[in-house]
Order: sequence, then C-alpha cells, then structure tokens
Amino acid sequence: MRPTYPFEEISGWLTAPEDRQAALDTQVKADVVIIGGGYTGLSTALVLRERGMDVAILEQGFAGSGASGRNAGHLAPTIGKDIPSLLRFFGAEKAKKLMAYADTAVNYTEKVINRHGIECEYEPNGNIVVGVHPKHEDGLRKAADTAQSLGGNVRFMDGNEMRQRQLPRAFTCGILEERGGILNPGKYVLGLRRAALNAGVRIYEDSKLTSLENGSTVTAITSKGSISAGKAVLATNAYTKSTGWHKRTVTPIRATLFETKPLSDAQLATLGWKFREGVYTAHQTLESFRLTARNTIVGGTKKVSYAYGSALANGYNEQVFQTIEGAFRARFPELTDVEIAQWWGGWFGLTLDFLPMIGVSGDHHNVYHGFGYAGHGVPQATMMGSMLADKIEGIENPWEQVLDRRHLNWPPEPLRWLGVKALTLTFNAMDKRTDRQIRELGVRGCH
Ligand SMILES: Cc1cc2nc3c(=O)[nH]c(=O)nc-3n(C[C@H](O)[C@H](O)[C@H](O)COP(=O)(O)OP(=O)(O)OC[C@H]3O[C@@H](n4cnc5c(N)ncnc54)[C@H](O)[C@@H]3O)c2cc1C
Repeated sequence: MRPTYPFEEISGWLTAPEDRQAALDTQVKADVVIIGGGYTGLSTALVLRERGMDVAILEQGFAGSGASGRNAGHLAPTIGKDIPSLLRFFGAEKAKKLMAYADTAVNYTEKVINRHGIECEYEPNGNIVVGVHPKHEDGLRKAADTAQSLGGNVRFMDGNEMRQRQLPRAFTCGILEERGGILNPGKYVLGLRRAALNAGVRIYEDSKLTSLENGSTVTAITSKGSISAGKAVLATNAYTKSTGWHKRTVTPIRATLFETKPLSDAQLATLGWKFREGVYTAHQTLESFRLTARNTIVGGTKKVSYAYGSALANGYNEQVFQTIEGAFRARFPELTDVEIAQWWGGWFGLTLDFLPMIGVSGDHHNVYHGFGYAGHGVPQATMMGSMLADKIEGIENPWEQVLDRRHLNWPPEPLRWLGVKALTLTFNAMDKRTDRQIRELGVRGCH
C-alpha cells in the first residue's frame, strides 16, 4: 500500500554525502576506535585528532544518519525533564551545577561551530518554553524563578511581552532561554564530518559493528573487517543495544517531526515571530516549533514511543502524524493553507533519570561511553566529545564530576516496556486534557 503521508526515514535536513566513505573491508589498527558517527562520535574524534591520536570511526550508515541528522535543531541549555524535577531529585547544589553544565554545553557548541567554520544556519535567538493554556502560567513563573535562583540565564515573559515580541498568538506566556538558538542539524553534523575528515580521522561508513571484543587491545568487528585499538568509544546513544554493551542504561525513544512547505511573505507577516526564537510547549511531552532558513516550519514530537525490547520503534505511523498535525493546526490557525511537505523521525537515548552518562567499562577499562541526552544532545553530545577525549587521556574534566551520580539501570523486560508505556500514557492523558481545555477556552493570554 502506498503511504498517504510524505515520509523520509532520514529527515528533510540532509541527504547522504557525495563523498560517502568506503566500508571497512580489511583489518586495520588505530589508537582509538569510535562506534557511531553522530555529534558524540565526531566531536570526540575531532578533539582526539587535534591532540595527535590516530582515530577511526565505524558508522553503520553515513555519519549523520542517526539522531544528529534528524533532530529539530534547538540549541538550548535545557537539562533533565524540567527544572523543578532536577531540584527535587538532586537538590539545589547539584541542580545548579547541572544547569551550569547545560549552559556551558551551548557555549561550547557555538565555539565548535566557529572553530570549524561550519555553515549551519545558526540563529542565536534563544528558545522559549511557551504556555498554551492559562494554567501553564503559574508553573512557568515558578520554574523561571527556580531556574534563576539556580543561576539559569532565563526569564519569564508575560502575555504583553509575548505580544510585543510578536510570537504566534497561541503562545501565551513563556520562559525565555536566552542562550543558544536554532540551527540546521543536518548541516551541522555534515560540517563536523567534513572537519573530521579534513583533520585525518578515518571514517568507515556502511560499516556496522557486529561485536566488540574486550581485551587489553579492543577489536571492533564488522561483517568484512576489524579495527584493533587501545581504546574504544561507544558513541551509539539510542542504538547502543546493537553493540551488545550497556543494554540497560539507555533506552531508545522514537520522536517524530515534520516540515511545512515554505511560508509566503504574506503568511510570515501574518504570523509575526519577528525574533525567530525556537519554541517548545509546556506540555508533558512537548510540542516543538521553529522557523528554518528556508522559511518553513519544522515541528513535532508531542507523541513519543518505545518498542518492546528496545527495538527501534517503527517510524511511519499515521496516527502519530495525525496527532502532531492536529497540534500544529491548533497552534497556527493563521496557516491553515500551509501544507506539510515531509515527515521523518529518529530515536534519542533516555537514561532513567533523564541525564547524560559518561563512563568506562570492560575488563581492561578501555571501552568508553557517552550517551543519554534525553533529546537535548545538540549541545550536550557535542560537549561530550571533549569530555570523552579528556577521560581517554586521563585529563580531569570538571563536567564529568557534575554528571557523576548513582547510576540507575532500566528494569529488564517486560517491566521496562510496562514502565515506559505507563509513563507515556499518563503524559498523553495529561496533555489531551490540556488540549481539550484549550479548545474549550479558545486562545487566552496569561495575565
Ligand atoms: C526527532 C528528534 C528531535 C530532536 N530534537 C532535538 C533538539 O531540537 N535539540 C537537541 O538538543 N536534541 C534533539 N534531539 C536529540 C539529539 O538529536 C541527540 O541527542 C543527538 O543527536 C545524539 O547524538 P549522538 O551522536 O550521541 O547519537 P546519533 O546521532 O544517534 O549517533 C549514533 C550513531 O551511531 C551509529 N551506530 C549505531 N549502532 C551502530 C553500530 N552497531 N555500528 C556502527 N554504527 C552504529 C548510528 O547509525 C548513528 O549514526 C532530537 C532527537 C530526535 C530523534
């Protein structure tokens, strides 16, 4: 049956690079072998290479074909589920440091973009967590106060300020995250890939790791070859289960996005959105929206899914598309005649406490990992590169200490599936109630 919705598995941001690198078909050596060519793997490789190491990456598709080439491109200092939860679970001292970590990750990413001269349509206009119902106002005010008291560069914006900034009318109040902005994630990851290749990193594409043999020398094996190295890095985030390592630390969650056709000048004028901030709603499972350099809107999430056994949940799902399109139409009644041109999605990695993990394992303590950014990996996976490189070289990195905590594993199946299902059903029910209340009210501003 022909699909009704225009769908591409790997996003509207990028296509496979013309200089696709040859697959590994022999036995080679390196100082460090990295599994996965997304932001984590490429950033780690770049730092290690700058320090003179011989680095090889194994990538099952092309570098950028994972979440790094498919995400919504919000570069934001967001961390964990939300600030009140961060405070509740970790206390003020740790929450403050975690927020500083998230802020630093945004600055670090801006530096990486500049340093490598990556043209990725970066617009440093900040992001806003927006209220779409009057009941969001109190929570957002409190969250902004809490974040400020913990040193966050954020502030609450009331309805008047939202109107002055000409944000679309459905967004009634919000928390402005001044640091960061929006970028083209496809151009960003392909820019990192190019920088890594120019620096002499060997990237083997179409080279899926089939097993990683543990020893004083690690051997990364694919169907046609192998790489022996002193150290290995698992930069496989949501896909980590496929490596046979860390099966219970990170869970793959499927999120879905769309891109509209370009807006006309008249449509843009009606919409406002003068400062082109990235926007995500204060729902339990956020809706995200942003303009792009080609004046389309990229939006989505709203519904996430988990497949039993950490299999990668199916991407083409018409029910999910309908729900997300419904949300888009509700938030942008000015754009009823704007068509959705494309759907896609990807998998992000979630740890049980919504915070990233960095560590080392293996009998010889030479298999490193960095993952679990809970959908905030544009900055955090980029900075993970410098943290992993430091760890490999035995250099103390202050942010590793900040991420240090008691690690909780996901439960085995079927408990994991039941747990994630219960959580997503609860969040969906809460969001449905909010959306019903919005429809009953019409759009009304915060005070
Ligand atoms: C729909 C969506 C929207 C998102 N929006 C945002 C956003 O707006 N802002 C934000 O900060 N974050 C966002 N994220 C999260 C962000 O994209 C990720 O956190 C980030 O890209 C993680 O980078 P990574 O390099 O660790 O993982 P990935 O980019 O997923 O890279 C892992 C790579 O490993 C490869 N691989 C896996 N297994 C193997 C194997 N066995 N052998 C060889 N290679 C292998 C994969 O092919 C992949 O290329 C979003 C994610 C999704 C899915």
